[in-house]
Amino acid sequence: FYDASLNASAARGLELLARFRQALKTDEFSLHYQPKIDMQHFDIVGMEALIRWNHPDHGLIFPNDFIPLAEEHDLIIPLGHWVIKAVCRQLAEWRKRDIPLVPVAINVSVKQLQDELLLDTIVSALKKYKLPSYLLEIEVTESCFIDDIDSAKQVLEKLRAEGLRIALDDYGTGYAGLSHIKTLPVYALKIDRSFIRDIRNDNSDAMIVASTVSLARNLGLKVVAEGVESKEQLMHLKVIGCDQVQGFYLQRPVASEQIEQILQKGRFDPL
Ligand code: C2E
Ligand code: MG
Ligand code: MG
Repeated sequence: FYDASLNASAARGLELLARFRQALKTDEFSLHYQPKIDMQHFDIVGMEALIRWNHPDHGLIFPNDFIPLAEEHDLIIPLGHWVIKAVCRQLAEWRKRDIPLVPVAINVSVKQLQDELLLDTIVSALKKYKLPSYLLEIEVTESCFIDDIDSAKQVLEKLRAEGLRIALDDYGTGYAGLSHIKTLPVYALKIDRSFIRDIRNDNSDAMIVASTVSLARNLGLKVVAEGVESKEQLMHLKVIGCDQVQGFYLQRPVASEQIEQILQKGRFDPL
């Protein structure tokens, strides 16, 4: 059977691939930032940096359309280095302009954890811009621990020893049980947004989230809910004791210029 759409997406993949290295040099990539909000007073306590590709022909391209491609063709390593440097440069610029700083999390994939230069790149970037290491956080998914748990753990332990905090992203979509997570150097779990989506209607999702929150808290881990899109979800999560939230309801990811005003304000009024 001839599948035209498959062909089209393969062609687009090739086109993106051909431009990738040049795009890195010409700063076609940029970072958008989404705040993480503490449930107590709705203060901004951190942000997540999310990559975008401003393609001259295709406009704004989201990571799901090019991260897998970058992974497949070993471009995720240079891309990851670009992200680390870009976040540090941004933090230094904000500091220079007296904009209140909060820790910024970057997403790191399995392949990036295997990169021998990862730690060095992070440490050098922090040093270059004279930034304390707590200002950079790492988000990894459970898939990082499937193939080679020991080496992934070692890398993360070194990062933690440098003063960076590590969060487990998309929690609940992988295989990791909480007893297993206890052995990893993570300080927070980010519950995947697929569990948050129907938290008000689907009783089993609500149960899963509530028990994850209480177990994680008993293990001394912070719990972050991602993908919060409504006031009802927000209030539900507050009642069950979730520590932090992230989602479109409070703030969509936006470019650095827009996030600056939000950082100046420092908190949200959820009602
Ligand atoms: P993630 O780390 O789980 O990031 C959360 C994703 O959920 C982001 O999508 C964000 O825009 C989206 N999101 C946030 N709040 C809501 C909400 O309320 N509702 C809905 N429906 N979505 C929400 P985005 O930016 O498209 O990123 C997708 C994934 O791409 C990320 O998932 C992360 O795994 C990956 N990614 C993004 N930036 C990077 C990067 O610099 N390096 C690597 N290796 N991966 C990245
Ligand atoms: Mg993430
Ligand atoms: Mg996530």
